[in-house]
Amino acid sequence: MSVSSLDISIKKTDKSRIGEIDPANIQFGKNYSDHMLIAYYENGKWGKPEIMPFHDLSFSPATTFLHYGQAIFEGVKAYKDPQGNPIIFRPYDNWKRMNRSAERMAMPDIPQDIFIDGMRELVNLDRDWVPSGADTSLYIRPFMLAVDEFIGVRPAEKFMFIIITSPAGPYYNKPVSIYVQDKYVRAFPGGIGFTKAAGNYGMSMYPTMQIKKMGYDQILWTDGFEHKYVQEIGTMNVFFVIGDTVITPDVTQDTILEGVTRESVLTLLREKGVKTEERPLSIDEIEEAFHAGKLKEAFGTGTAASIAPIRELTFHDDKMVLPDIEHWEITNWLKQELADIRYGRKKDTHNWVVAV
Ligand SMILES: *Cc1c(COP(=O)(O)O)cnc(C)c1O
Repeated sequence: MSVSSLDISIKKTDKSRIGEIDPANIQFGKNYSDHMLIAYYENGKWGKPEIMPFHDLSFSPATTFLHYGQAIFEGVKAYKDPQGNPIIFRPYDNWKRMNRSAERMAMPDIPQDIFIDGMRELVNLDRDWVPSGADTSLYIRPFMLAVDEFIGVRPAEKFMFIIITSPAGPYYNKPVSIYVQDKYVRAFPGGIGFTKAAGNYGMSMYPTMQIKKMGYDQILWTDGFEHKYVQEIGTMNVFFVIGDTVITPDVTQDTILEGVTRESVLTLLREKGVKTEERPLSIDEIEEAFHAGKLKEAFGTGTAASIAPIRELTFHDDKMVLPDIEHWEITNWLKQELADIRYGRKKDTHNWVVAV
């Protein structure tokens, strides 16, 4: 039965693969649920979305996205609430952000009903794939590809919008060690740093490989002019608690991906009366605060990890080791508060949670 008024065709699998999952040992990205959603854009409009069994796709070797990276994606999660029903966290924000990415990448807007209602239908159909163990979730990956069969360089005219989902186990929240990057650049004003474009990830692989070899987990990206102002860690937004103020870089220059988790964290902190600032933050200021004993906590935020505490930060030969995270009041409170809302254990006063 349909959960919305969206005109959608549903073809169900004859044979569920859910038996292949070991609920006690779910590895991220290893298994994909039984169904996927596909919608085509052609002749200036979206066709009727279809939900069908998860399957391989085939493309002409001349297809646009394979050559020119005209491809964008989103990351959303569904959680089981205490009654055992799947709920999706803030999908409207992902929908709006996907359309901001689409505009910048010369791709068409996705209608709300295809994105939201299509996602709800898909999660409802594959509801058994939403795990119920502690800290588990169903990761939802909407993405859009330019699929003209044409190797010439021009914005494409044909697109595919797809949603796949994958059960995710508890995220191992070992505090991360960070290397402050002052050679490679992730984003600059006028670029695509604010979008979830595939190329933002492709370009980060090499610098990340280099710092992993050096023993670090993630890069703290800095601006491309002076390598002075901090941007994000890896693919997460970043927050520093200096004194009693929580500071995160502002998103006004198109260099920062506006995370849904980032926005949720800022909202929760403000409601609790914690002082927050969104502004340019230099590595010098962070170092100074650290050496004055004022850098209390630091963490990354994103849908995958939720809140990732930072254990240490290395800038040139300055290794800044933060206090033991057990005593971090703000980070630990945020983690708990966000989890309680996402799993429907706490009243959703912000209308963040969407039933399927
Ligand atoms: C996806 C992403 C984030 C986190 O966004 P959320 O909406 O919180 O998941 C942060 N930075 C980058 C570069 C990202 O791609």
